[in-house]
Amino acid sequence: MKITLLNGRTCDYQAYCGFSLKVVNSDRAKRLSLRIDEKLHVPVLTIPKRCAQKKVKEFLDANHDWVVNMMARLPVAAKFSQGEKVSFFGHDYTIEHDKTNRTTEFSGSVLRVSGGEEFLHRRVKDYLKEQTLKILSEMTVNKAAEIAGKVKSVAIKDTRSRWGSCTTSGHINYNWRICMAPKEVINYLVCHEVAHLVHPDHSADFWNCVEQICPDYKETRRWLKNHGKSLYKYI
Ligand SMILES: [Zn+2]
Repeated sequence: MKITLLNGRTCDYQAYCGFSLKVVNSDRAKRLSLRIDEKLHVPVLTIPKRCAQKKVKEFLDANHDWVVNMMARLPVAAKFSQGEKVSFFGHDYTIEHDKTNRTTEFSGSVLRVSGGEEFLHRRVKDYLKEQTLKILSEMTVNKAAEIAGKVKSVAIKDTRSRWGSCTTSGHINYNWRICMAPKEVINYLVCHEVAHLVHPDHSADFWNCVEQICPDYKETRRWLKNHGKSLYKYI
């Protein structure tokens, strides 16, 4: 990414430091900073207004090893594979590739996957998304009814940055990866989004509303914060 400096010169910091880098030019930032975006799998460099190019380069040099180290610790992107166990709404299923099966389906504690093996990951993901939509649609409507919230639509998204969202007009979206979290955590996410039907913010009233329909929200919210990123390894 090329950055145009105040003096009109550009500097490609990504090329300078030798690894992928997301550069954010911020009017509000007081100092240079680097963090790792674990979901996007990329280091993020924030540059405050009027920061000299020389200073940015020195900062990148000083933090080079830290970035490399942190990136090495991130979970690698994974694809579903034959024989692997996958958790779906709290139940474990073993993935079994079966070319002769006509459809992909849950069968006891097995997730039987049809088609060519090269499409296994895609088929598992599509199937989980489809099943997740069914279950979450029902859960959402039921939870919304408890607080007289009106749901317009429920959709499943493949976002890399958030677990769910709710528009003021009642459209709720969920990240498909939530299906692999413990059941209580999925329930918390539903309650969180549903509470936004009544409170479109994160005010004290909003959290009271969440607690009303999800009494254990503090623990489940913590789980999502601490462990949720592990579910992002699936691409
Ligand atoms: Zn929220």
